[in-house]
Amino acid sequence: MNKTVSVLVPVNNEEVVLPALFAELERILEPLSGKYQFHVLILDDGSVDKTADIVRNHASNAYSTGLCSFTRNFGKESAISAGLDRCESDAYIIIDADLQHPPELIPEMLMQWESGFKLVECVKKSRGRESMFYKFCSQLFYQSMKSLSSLELDNDSDYKLLDKEIVLMIRSFPEKNRFFRGLISWMGYPTYQIPFEVPNREQGKSSWKTWGLIKYSLSSLSSFSSAPLQLVTVIGVLMLILSLLIGSLTLYQWALGNAVTGFTTVIILLLMIGSMLMISLGLIGLYISKIYDEVKSRPGYIVKEELNSSANESGKPK
Ligand code: UDP
Ligand code: MG
Repeated sequence: MNKTVSVLVPVNNEEVVLPALFAELERILEPLSGKYQFHVLILDDGSVDKTADIVRNHASNAYSTGLCSFTRNFGKESAISAGLDRCESDAYIIIDADLQHPPELIPEMLMQWESGFKLVECVKKSRGRESMFYKFCSQLFYQSMKSLSSLELDNDSDYKLLDKEIVLMIRSFPEKNRFFRGLISWMGYPTYQIPFEVPNREQGKSSWKTWGLIKYSLSSLSSFSSAPLQLVTVIGVLMLILSLLIGSLTLYQWALGNAVTGFTTVIILLLMIGSMLMISLGLIGLYISKIYDEVKSRPGYIVKEELNSSANESGKPK
């Protein structure tokens, strides 16, 4: 019996890139299809274009195709979760649809997996074409992640091969809001890394919005570190020491009969303390909202349609 490999592709409005992706997968997986049974599962994250139609009408000799469509856009993380939840196979490959994760690396990933690595990661040599602002923000995020949670994700990508063992482990985690890359890195499995140059996105456009990315970064950071909460305490203690110093100086001056005149100082101090309090409350709010989300325990996504072609018998859905 051949080993089964699921290729999970999160997609959001990718009608222009899907045909190229299928052609490329066909080219790369065909020579390996005698040895493995491939199942390509397209996780349609609320596309409003022809993405689902293209998948429904697609058939290949090299792999079977599956479609799992969400009712609306739930985000890439939810799409990855859905993929990991639904297929039973020996290995799982997560890949972007836009060919920025070159499928040519799949044979090497499988080779390293066969040689015993339960986790094979493709790491970016450089970050491809990005605006200065985007580069700055991603640097800020990765640096914060590194210093707050000791997870080094700078060149990490979602392009990974996971052994069944890792997927079973992830499924057993009760948390709903998963930050896939962080979770994998946190699990600490021995990894084989394949460096790759990120090609530019040739067709279609990224559906990430700036505000969406900011929310995603804050949510990922707070998933892996509670250090900001401790920071609030540290700032509080520093302010206390400062206020004791200033307070005793003021009292001393008063005892000498030189009452301090300093309306400006009072206003500045009030504003400073006010904003510190607001920021601290905001930080605590961020964590409370995460707890709230988890406690509600709503599913991370809702499936509208599921299809599985049987070009070959791999990747049996659960
Ligand atoms: N994607 C998704 N849901 C989203 C946003 C993106 O499934 O809400 C998919 C998208 O179709 C692509 C992959 O995630 O296959 C990577 O997205 P994109 O290329 O837009 O982002 P990048 O990480 O390259 O900036
Ligand atoms: Mg991309």
